[in-house]
Amino acid sequence: MADYDLAIIGGGLNGVSLARDAAGRGLRVILIEQGDLGGAASSATPRLIHGDLSVLERRGFWRVRRALSERRTWLRIAPHLVRPMRFVIPAHSDERPPWLLRAGLFVYDSLASRSGLPGSATLDITHHPVGNALKRPFGIAFEYADCVVDDSRLVVLTALDATEHGAEIRTGARCVRADRADIWRLAVIDRGHRRVITTRALANATGGWTSMVADTVLRQPQPAMAAMQMSQIIVPRLFESDNVYVFQNNDGRLIFASPFERDFTLIGTITHAFTGDPAIVAIPGADVSYLCEAASRYFRERVAPTDVVRTVSGVNLTPASARRRDGTTLFHARRRKAPLLTMFGGDVTTSRLRAEQAVTRLTPFYPMSPRWTAGAALPGGDFAWDRFETEVDLARDRWRFLAETQAQRLVAAYGSRLSAVLGEAKTRDELGPAFGPELTGAEARYLMSHEWARFPDDILWRRSKLGLTMPAADRDALAAFMADVI
Ligand SMILES: Cc1cc2nc3c(=O)[nH]c(=O)nc-3n(C[C@H](O)[C@H](O)[C@H](O)COP(=O)(O)OP(=O)(O)OC[C@H]3O[C@@H](n4cnc5c(N)ncnc54)[C@H](O)[C@@H]3O)c2cc1C
Repeated sequence: MADYDLAIIGGGLNGVSLARDAAGRGLRVILIEQGDLGGAASSATPRLIHGDLSVLERRGFWRVRRALSERRTWLRIAPHLVRPMRFVIPAHSDERPPWLLRAGLFVYDSLASRSGLPGSATLDITHHPVGNALKRPFGIAFEYADCVVDDSRLVVLTALDATEHGAEIRTGARCVRADRADIWRLAVIDRGHRRVITTRALANATGGWTSMVADTVLRQPQPAMAAMQMSQIIVPRLFESDNVYVFQNNDGRLIFASPFERDFTLIGTITHAFTGDPAIVAIPGADVSYLCEAASRYFRERVAPTDVVRTVSGVNLTPASARRRDGTTLFHARRRKAPLLTMFGGDVTTSRLRAEQAVTRLTPFYPMSPRWTAGAALPGGDFAWDRFETEVDLARDRWRFLAETQAQRLVAAYGSRLSAVLGEAKTRDELGPAFGPELTGAEARYLMSHEWARFPDDILWRRSKLGLTMPAADRDALAAFMADVI
């Protein structure tokens, strides 16, 4: 008998979503990730949970409706990680004319009906606060509702939920060989130790590595795929208002500028074909200039490449024939050949649904309980999305030493599970050493014991984004602290 029903290679959003779904349906699941959870493309997404207006232009009504329905699901199951925002598109006649935008938003509103979010509106931005950061010529703008998400925490909390449903998650474990017969036999280098794992089915969810893993590890044929790179830049905060700007660039692309960790703005996305090793993806200088120029067309404050404090890039695959973003799932099973699922690409918004559909493909092979993930909150997400500020107030009542912005960050990260991090502390000092203005020893320890953090970057760039503001000396102190805990 095999050790597991399903082994998943790859701990990005696709891999952890498969693990969560399958474990909750009663399968014995193991996930193997060579680095950190969400360490690749899944922490470099545009952070949007949306129907994607640009898909409407291509008449993808069904796709938009499906994504908007998933947006409702995310608000229900991850109200701490997913935040509704007003998205603002300044109107001008160079690109899509105002009547076209108005018509598009009318359709978007209709497809999003019953979402509980307010519908679209027309703003006179010469008098509205959202106009303050913009150049003068933009007289009107259209405003509509969509959501932003903390993509890296979504990966980690999905993995946490998977383990709470019985999955085993191994980070720092690389699958180096898989032999296929009526079961799979995997060779894994698990933190320096060679380990053999047997499983009834295997999922290849290795993102930008999918073809390479299929070819060199699984030695299975692969359909033609194209590697695509996606990049964004982070600059100091460009606007005070709490909304996302959507700019129509002069090449037809939509560029998003969103608030990022209070003091910064995230600008993206630019995508193009990629060749090379997905582990060493970097944004080309020309793409940085492109995004700066695109933002400078709209914002009063000019954005220059020297303003960029960090860049984020990721690689994933799309079918070579159609460079779509809606992701691909392939399923292969034959007599005396154990099943192989391959899942790559796709966006954050539909990741839960695609994992659900992929795991369902295994139903002929195992007895399995019904679909469940749309109705179950992720860890800490058991409150209504419009009660986020109430949760913040409750946290400040209980831990009186928290400033409002600190409480907001902590509730957004841990939701109703914040007490697992802060315990019964009455003062800030009871939480151990401080690393920078926000991170405490208690939080670092929690992330190491419950959320697979092993190295400072796991905490500074994925479990949080505190790396943006933490002084170098505090990072060194954090590294020493973590080495002691291990
Ligand atoms: C061009 C492009 C545009 C995109 N646009 C959007 C968008 O508009 N909106 C949106 O939400 N998302 C977008 N995405 C999607 C998003 O970035 C990711 O594709 C998504 O998060 C799913 O990632 P993944 O899990 O497939 O891969 P990844 O997050 O890259 O995870 C794969 C993991 O596999 C691991 N791995 C590889 N080989 C091995 C091995 N041998 N053993 C163990 N582990 C291994 C890697 O370390 C990595 O962590 C886009 C992606 C691309 C490429």
